[in-house]
Amino acid sequence: MKLLTLLALLFIPLSATAQENGVEIVKVRDGIHMLISPNGGNVTASTGEDGTFIVDDNLEGRGSILTDAIKGLNGQDIKFILNTHYHFDHTGTNETFGENGAIIVAHDNVRERLSTKQFISFFKKEMPALSKSGLPVVTFAEGLNLHYNGDDVQIIHLPNAHTDGDSAAFFKNQNVIVTGDTVFNGMYPFIDAEHGGSIKGTLAAHDTLIALADEGTAIIPGHGPLMNKADLQAYRDALAAITANIGAAIKDGKTLEETIAMKPSAKFDEKMGGGFITPEIFTSFLYKHLSR
Ligand SMILES: [Zn+2]
Repeated sequence: MKLLTLLALLFIPLSATAQENGVEIVKVRDGIHMLISPNGGNVTASTGEDGTFIVDDNLEGRGSILTDAIKGLNGQDIKFILNTHYHFDHTGTNETFGENGAIIVAHDNVRERLSTKQFISFFKKEMPALSKSGLPVVTFAEGLNLHYNGDDVQIIHLPNAHTDGDSAAFFKNQNVIVTGDTVFNGMYPFIDAEHGGSIKGTLAAHDTLIALADEGTAIIPGHGPLMNKADLQAYRDALAAITANIGAAIKDGKTLEETIAMKPSAKFDEKMGGGFITPEIFTSFLYKHLSR
C-alpha cells in the first residue's frame, strides 16, 4: 500500500465525519471544521466564544444549506468570511451571508474582480458583478491578522498562484492551514492563468505553506480531503516534476502533440489524474503556459 493511501486511511478514523444536507462535516480540531459540498470548494468553519468565522463559502444557491450546517456546529451566525480568491465556487453565497451581516475579508484583487463581471474561459463561466452585500469590506495587499475564537489567524497573500488574489489562513494556536485553491488534493490543479495565476506562483505558495507547517499541522485544501505536511510536500514535488518534464520538452523543441504523447505526468496520473483536469489537459495547460 502506498504511504499516502495509508496516511489517508489512518486520518479518517481520527476525524469525526457527519453528513448534513449534502454537506460532509469533518472535525479537524475542537472549534475547527471542514465542510465538504458536492461540486463546491471546501469551507472551513472556526466556531467559539467570539462567533463564527468561515474561510470561503460556496456555490450560489447553497447559502441556506451551508448556514444550517454551520449553525449546527454552535448555533451562531457567521460574523467573518475570508474569500481565499474570487472564484464562484468559493464566493457564490457571499451576497446571502453579507445580507445577514457577515463581514467579508479578502485580498484587494478579489474585491476588484467581484466588483466587475468576470469570464472564466476554461469553464465558459460568466460571473456577474456582485451587489454591494457580497463584496469584501476589509481588503489587504500583503496579509492580515485576525484574533478570534482564542486563536491568532495569520492571513497571507500568495502572489500569482491559482489567481492574482489568493490567500491562505494559518490558525497558529490550533496549527491548521487553509490553502484555498493553491492546492487541489489528489487532483491536478486548475490554474487560472487568465486571471493572474501561474505554476511558478503555485509552487512558491506551496513552499510558503510548507515552511509554516510542522508534522502536526492539519492542512485543509481548496478541494479534496484533509492533508498533512508530507502530503503537501508530495503534491508540490509532483507538480514541480511534471513542470520540469514539460519545460525540458519545450527546450528540446517538441510540439504540444509530441509532449502530450511523451506523457510527462505518467508517474503521477494514477494518483492525481482522475479529476476534471486530466493528464492531457494539465500537460497542455503547462505547455502553453511555459511557452509564453
Ligand atoms: Zn478556484
